[in-house]
Amino acid sequence: MPAAVSRYAVFGHPIAHSLSPRLHALFAAQTGIALEYTAIDATPEMFADALRTFFAQGGRGANVTLPHKAAAFAFADVQTATAQRLGVANVLTRLPDGRIEADSNDGAGMLADMRGHCGIDPRGSEVLLLGAGGAARAAAFALLDAGVRSITIANRTAARAHALARALANAARVQVVGWDDLERCGPFGLIVNATSAGVQHAALPLPPSLVQASTAAYDLSYGPAARPFVGWATRAGCADAFDGLGMLVETAAASFDRCHRVRPDVAAALAKITEDNRP
Ligand code: NDP
Repeated sequence: MPAAVSRYAVFGHPIAHSLSPRLHALFAAQTGIALEYTAIDATPEMFADALRTFFAQGGRGANVTLPHKAAAFAFADVQTATAQRLGVANVLTRLPDGRIEADSNDGAGMLADMRGHCGIDPRGSEVLLLGAGGAARAAAFALLDAGVRSITIANRTAARAHALARALANAARVQVVGWDDLERCGPFGLIVNATSAGVQHAALPLPPSLVQASTAAYDLSYGPAARPFVGWATRAGCADAFDGLGMLVETAAASFDRCHRVRPDVAAALAKITEDNRP
């Protein structure tokens, strides 16, 4: 009798737009590993029950996206040190003893994309971080670990920016600035947009004074959601501006590697998914 195909899924709400099933199918084809990977739409009220059903029916691992990253962290039996530091998780894995482990690889995926595909080395940079939500939190810890000189956080809701700064606990390198004070800040070496303004088709007013000729801009969003920020950065004179598609591929590849102990060909998958999603 043939062995049962391993089951994986991505959970989110909404989830129809997710590229994760396509990416994992690409990785499976590259590595010759048979698997089933589906997208499961679960409201916050349904999320824990949907996960319990998935794992009870033999699910091996799950990726988790908006708005469930904090709930995924709370659902797990154990959390990796990275997830504990952030208080959120985007990867749930069933361990051999049956316990569910939560991990977060968003920050590592962003850095891998910056360094591997965008030619950005954040070491020593003065960084402007826009946003203070879950993704901004992962980005901020990763950037500090990567050796940036400073992080200036600006967020629509100032209290969340201050809460993130407190969590980073590095007063020498982290400061908060009000959104209305951005005109008096900069220029920066690296501007990271970790807001969801683009996803919501909302304007993100930013002054050109944030930019100098060597500034690199990076949006964690991708596809149409990243176009307004990437367009602004280009018009404002940034040396380079990137979206977060490479980050998505890097985090998916890290999840795949964690489950199957095989590193897929990220560059080939990124080229294919970029081609598939060309406007
Ligand atoms: P959260 O909901 O946790 O945070 C959203 C952030 O965006 C908050 O700081 C919020 O500010 C800010 N924001 C929302 N709307 C506006 C607006 N109109 N103007 C200014 N700021 C706004 O989301 P996440 O942190 O999880 O995700 C943020 C983005 O990163 C999303 O677009 C997501 O798709 C992307 N992402 C990409 C990944 C990838 O692999 N490429 C991985 C993870 C995330 P406030 O506090 O005031 O509400």
